[in-house]
Amino acid sequence: MEEQPPRHGRVVLVPCPFQGHLNPMLQLGAILHSQGFSITVVHTKFNSPNPSCHHEFTFQPIQDCLSPDEISSGNLVAILLALNCNCKTPFQECMTWMTQQQKPDDRVTCIIYDELMYFAEAAANHLKLSSLILCTTSVATAQSRVAIRQLKEEGCIPWPDSMSQDRVPNLHSLRFKDLPVSIFGVPDNFLDLISQTYNARTSSAVIWNTIDCLEQSSLEQQQRRYRPIPIFPIGPLHKFAPVSSSSLLNEDTSCITWLDKQPCNSVLYISLGSLASIDETEVAEMAWGLANSWQRFLWVVRPGSIPGSEWTESLPEGFREIVGGRGCIVRWAPQKEVLAHPAVGGFWSHCGWNSTLESISEGVPMICTPCFGDQRVNARYASYVWGIGLQLENKLERKEIEMAIRRLMVDSEGEEMRHKAQNLKEKVEICIKEGGSSYNNLKMLLEFMSF
Ligand code: UDP
Repeated sequence: MEEQPPRHGRVVLVPCPFQGHLNPMLQLGAILHSQGFSITVVHTKFNSPNPSCHHEFTFQPIQDCLSPDEISSGNLVAILLALNCNCKTPFQECMTWMTQQQKPDDRVTCIIYDELMYFAEAAANHLKLSSLILCTTSVATAQSRVAIRQLKEEGCIPWPDSMSQDRVPNLHSLRFKDLPVSIFGVPDNFLDLISQTYNARTSSAVIWNTIDCLEQSSLEQQQRRYRPIPIFPIGPLHKFAPVSSSSLLNEDTSCITWLDKQPCNSVLYISLGSLASIDETEVAEMAWGLANSWQRFLWVVRPGSIPGSEWTESLPEGFREIVGGRGCIVRWAPQKEVLAHPAVGGFWSHCGWNSTLESISEGVPMICTPCFGDQRVNARYASYVWGIGLQLENKLERKEIEMAIRRLMVDSEGEEMRHKAQNLKEKVEICIKEGGSSYNNLKMLLEFMSF
């Protein structure tokens, strides 16, 4: 896709304001921009992206009216429902203003919105603009969210603990305990969000940050479900996008200098993403498990991720002295660069979908500790379906952690997972090369958008 692109119209992007959603949306924007589209990002004030990282885009904030209490509640479902309610009118006004101001050679041709920001669809319809949905989770997650709604209708929610290991009907490999429920379980507002997101939509296409080689049969089912609306699986988006950062926190690049000094495949990279938190007891178990494994590690401890601590104050006494130069701890890392570094031999992850795709793209095997939502589905796929990870199923406990780290980093079991992860990486490379599924789907998407 190197030839000089023709100039197309302006695309309006509406990201969902969480790191794991902003990244793929801004990556998509960068890809479209490189292909001749102008980009405006209409975003909430809450978690607004940093315009200085994307000089090529225009940024347009809208009021989201979230209260400090709502923001600090950590109740993602409530925040998403409030955003869809509060942003509808400001977005419509913003779009009306934009279309009145636009020059004939710079017209808004379509709106691409995160599937969770469904308020944007109504404004697109009102202004008779075409709209496309961006899905930033796996297809398996979308299918299991729909299954949750079905289970509710059949009176199977909540399910008893004794069923947690049972397979969910029609969901292939998933057990009840792998279903993507919120930290609060399956409250009515969660079902409301699922219904709003997966009810019949009027958008003209679905763009999916997934890859045919990972989810072929689920994608085929989904394509049948959406027909005649086309689905474009064009993941992993970060591999098509020009390198740039959309981090809400500052990336500490000193860890790359530290990695440069470590032997090949020797470092376990640890990150639980942008939202998950762990309590003090879990942190202590993680720390002692790490120390006792005697493996090198790079640990992202996100500020605020341990309730009651600003940063690393709750690490056990003596831990830093014991691990010494074997460990490096940062607030936030340039994760894609870290995973691509030859010193990194394993990723202990919460299994957010971006982290999972980024790990697979670099052939790095995983230790999976999902916390909530789609992380459970991704962890099950990584460990059970793709065989590139081992899942810690129980409460975090130092002995089990120590053994899991050694299984991944030292034992032949880890070697086998590394081998499978490398194979999967090669398959992904084929998908994104000329003639591969994601490459072809991206070409078709660009043709679709150029009409
Ligand atoms: N990330 C990062 N630096 C870090 C930790 C995470 O840049 O120290 C990025 C990571 O590369 C990924 C995103 O943050 O793109 C997290 O998204 P994911 O879907 O994995 O998890 P979430 O944060 O939504 O739970």
